[in-house]
Amino acid sequence: ALSSAQLQFANRFADLPPAFYTRLQPTPLPAPYLVGFSADAARSIGLKTPAADDQHFLDLFTGNLIASGSQPLAAVYSGHQFGQWAGQLGDGRAISIGDLAAADGKGRIELQLKGSGKTPYSRMGDGRAVLRSSIREFLCSEAMAALGIPTTRALCVTGSDQRVLRETAETAAVVTRMAPSFIRFGSFEHWYYNQRHDDLKILADAVLAQLYPELLDSANPYAALLKEVTRRTAHLMAHWQAVGFMHGVMNTDNMSILGLTLDYGPFGFMEAFDANHICNHTDQQGRYSYQMQPKIGQWNCFALGQAMLPLIGSVEETEAALGEYQAQFELRHAQLMQAKLGLRSTQAEDGTLLDAMFAILQNSHVDFTSFFRQLGNLRIDDTASDEALRDLIIDRQAFDAWALQYRARLRLENSEDATRKLAMDAVNPKYVLRNYLAQVAIDKAQNKDFSEVERLLQILQQPFDEQPEFDRYADLPPDWASHLEVSCSS
Ligand code: AMP
Ligand code: MG
Ligand code: MG
Repeated sequence: ALSSAQLQFANRFADLPPAFYTRLQPTPLPAPYLVGFSADAARSIGLKTPAADDQHFLDLFTGNLIASGSQPLAAVYSGHQFGQWAGQLGDGRAISIGDLAAADGKGRIELQLKGSGKTPYSRMGDGRAVLRSSIREFLCSEAMAALGIPTTRALCVTGSDQRVLRETAETAAVVTRMAPSFIRFGSFEHWYYNQRHDDLKILADAVLAQLYPELLDSANPYAALLKEVTRRTAHLMAHWQAVGFMHGVMNTDNMSILGLTLDYGPFGFMEAFDANHICNHTDQQGRYSYQMQPKIGQWNCFALGQAMLPLIGSVEETEAALGEYQAQFELRHAQLMQAKLGLRSTQAEDGTLLDAMFAILQNSHVDFTSFFRQLGNLRIDDTASDEALRDLIIDRQAFDAWALQYRARLRLENSEDATRKLAMDAVNPKYVLRNYLAQVAIDKAQNKDFSEVERLLQILQQPFDEQPEFDRYADLPPDWASHLEVSCSS
C-alpha cells in the first residue's frame, strides 16, 4: 500500500473539451485536522492508513497542496430541481483532483474534494461544506457501501476551525469522495438544454468508452446506454426502498450516470414506518418522500432520455429504453423483499402477504430496521420466539393474524428456522445510520472529539453482524431525536 505522496494521479475528465470544466486550485483551509478516515475505502485505491502526523495526507485531502499529475477542475452540469428546470448548478463546491487506478485492477477511481472552495459554478454559495454535513456524507456513503448498495465512497473528512456561516456559525470541512465517475443526468441535460448537441455527443462517447465499453458494439450505443442507466437506476431505487433509505433531494443533478447513490444531503433511514415520510425538511410537498422515490427515479430517467433523444435519434427507441424501468424495479424489489422475509420461492399469494405486512408497519409505525431484523428470530413452531417483534407493534391482533399467514407461507416451502435466520441476518441490517447516531457523533466532533465518528464507522462497516458490544447502536431513537430536522443547508 502507498502513502498519499506516492499516489499517481491522472485526470480523464481533463481530456474533454474546456467547456466541460474549469481548471482551478482548491482554496486552502488553515490548520486542517483529520475527522474521519475509511481504511476500507483507502484499500480500493491502494492507499495505506496515514500516520497521525502525516501532514502531506492532510494537506492533499484538504486541497492545500496539489499532488503530482493532478489537474484539479470543477465540472459543469445543470439539472431539474424539484421538477423544474434550474439551468446551470454545478459543480459549485466539489473539485475533482483526478483519478487513480483501482487497486482491484478494474478501471479508475476519481477523487473529489467536496467543500474545497468556490468555483465559477458556485452561484451564491461559498464553496464550502460544514463539518456536520461532511460527517453525514462520510458515514453514510461508507455505510451504504457496506450494505451492498451502489454508492460513491468516502475516503476521509478533514476539518478546519475556519468559520462558515449557515443558519448559525459552523466550521468548514472537506470530504474526499470517490467513484469511477461523478457524471450526472444533469451533465447530459446541460448540453441538451444549451442546444450543444456536439458536446452532448462528446460526453456520451466518453461515458461509453470509459464506463460502459461493453455497450459500444450495440446497434445503437446511446439507446443501450440509456437502457442500462435506466436499469441501474431502477435497481438502485429497489435497494433504497428495501433498506428504508431516503435520499431527500432526488434532483436530476444528484442522479449518477453509473446508478450510484450520489450527493448525500438531507438523507435519512426510515425509523417509525410511514410511507409518506419526508426526510428533507425543505421538501414541503413531499416530492421526494419514501414512497415517491421509485416514481421519481423513473421521472429522472425520462429527463435523461429527453436529453439523449438527439443522440438516440428516435422517440421509439428512447421510449423502449425507458420502458424497462417499471419491470426492472418490480423485479429487483420483489427479490429484495423476498430475501428480507427469508423466502426462497415465489408464490401467488406473496403480494398479499407483503401488503398486509406493510399495512402493519404503516398503522403501527414500526421501526423499519428493527422489524426485519427481529423477524429473523421468528421460529415456525414457537410463538414465544416473536415476543420481541410483537413488542414493536401496537396492533397485536393484526400482527398475530399476519404471523399466522407468514408461518403458513414458511411451512409451504419447508423453511428451516436456523438456516432462514442466517440468510435473513445477512440481508436485514442490525445497524443503520440513524439520524440521532450521526447527531451524537457530530456533536462530539464539533468539540474536537472524533472518537464517535470512528466508532460509528466501524459499526456501520459490519451492519449485518451482531456486534453485541454495540447493541445499543441498534436501539430505537431516543425522545430527543424526534426534534431533529435535516434540510438542504449543508
Ligand atoms: P444540492 O441540491 O445539494 O445537490 O446542490 C445543488 C448545487 O448547489 C450543487 O451542485 C452545488 O454546486 C451547489 N452548492 C450547494 N452548496 C453550495 C455552497 N455552499 N457553495 C457553492 N455551491 C454550492
Ligand atoms: Mg448535488
Ligand atoms: Mg448537496
